[in-house]
Amino acid sequence: MKAERLAAARSGLAPAALIRATPLLFPLVFVCTAVTGVLSTLYAALALHLLIIASELTVGRRWSEVAIPKLVEGSSTFEDLWPVLWFGLHLVALVAALSFVGSADLTWRQVFAVGAFFGYSINAFSAAAAHELIHRESHAERAFGRLLCAIMLYPHFPCVHLSAHHHWAGTDHDCQTPKPGQTIHAYLAQALFGGLRAAATPQARALDRGLPLRALFCVLVVAAPLMFAPVLSAFMIVQGLFAFLVIETINYVQHCPFPDDDHSAAAAASTHQDLNFVSRALLLNLPLHAAHHDRPALHYANLTPSAEAATLRLGYWCSFWLVWLPPVWHSLRHNLCSHHRRSP
Ligand SMILES: [Zn+2]
Repeated sequence: MKAERLAAARSGLAPAALIRATPLLFPLVFVCTAVTGVLSTLYAALALHLLIIASELTVGRRWSEVAIPKLVEGSSTFEDLWPVLWFGLHLVALVAALSFVGSADLTWRQVFAVGAFFGYSINAFSAAAAHELIHRESHAERAFGRLLCAIMLYPHFPCVHLSAHHHWAGTDHDCQTPKPGQTIHAYLAQALFGGLRAAATPQARALDRGLPLRALFCVLVVAAPLMFAPVLSAFMIVQGLFAFLVIETINYVQHCPFPDDDHSAAAAASTHQDLNFVSRALLLNLPLHAAHHDRPALHYANLTPSAEAATLRLGYWCSFWLVWLPPVWHSLRHNLCSHHRRSP
């Protein structure tokens, strides 16, 4: 698959660095909520999400042809370390959220709200970090990625992603590729049950021998607090549910076929890309998904757009909500997508 180059950032490092620093604010919100003990502090996370959506619709679209500059010019140290650093920040946010839920006098509905905020806010960035880590060569980094998925209560994501998704994306064999015309609701059921089936195949079990241990870890994380603080179990289940929703909705956005896609054979071209600058900066270039499928081991900082993939500039925060309105989503994609397919 042919690659395209993006332009170097002309307006300096500051705006890009500011956008890239945004994920740091979400663990800070959860720490502040734990320290103050005030539930409404979480509205700061909601405000940040609205700001991200506004940024996607403005600067994100305008800079869609601009590359994400390295934080330190000439060095990839920050880019190398960031996914592992985020693992630590995820733990900080999780401890803060558990401390708040365990100590505040919350109703069950409020516990659900905290879990949902956590799953939608923290786990979105954790999913991108874990995805990068499970593709790394280093055994330790892969272990961090797998553990992060387990903490999000999606322990089998790494083996489904590596043993099935990267082999069968774009075909009916892949439970993480939507079928033509499939709604997000039907797709989520397919991803849930298909993922469990894919994780049980001999190939998946051979690739990921640590899965039974991580599954046991998930059971313990949910079951252990039941005796003394069931609200903590409820929080963990809700954040895990939203982790699944976020990860699989992103998969849906990345692989939702167009009517003219070839769905009968392994077709890398049925993987799409989103050039929105804000989404790329916040999610470690994950929206350059066609290029990632072309070269799965390539470091996220070195990904460039594919010249042949169907291309959007909507951004993943906007897309996440639009897919729940299937007629609007399909119509917008049809009208806004540019096909760069130069192949015959
Ligand atoms: Zn991947």
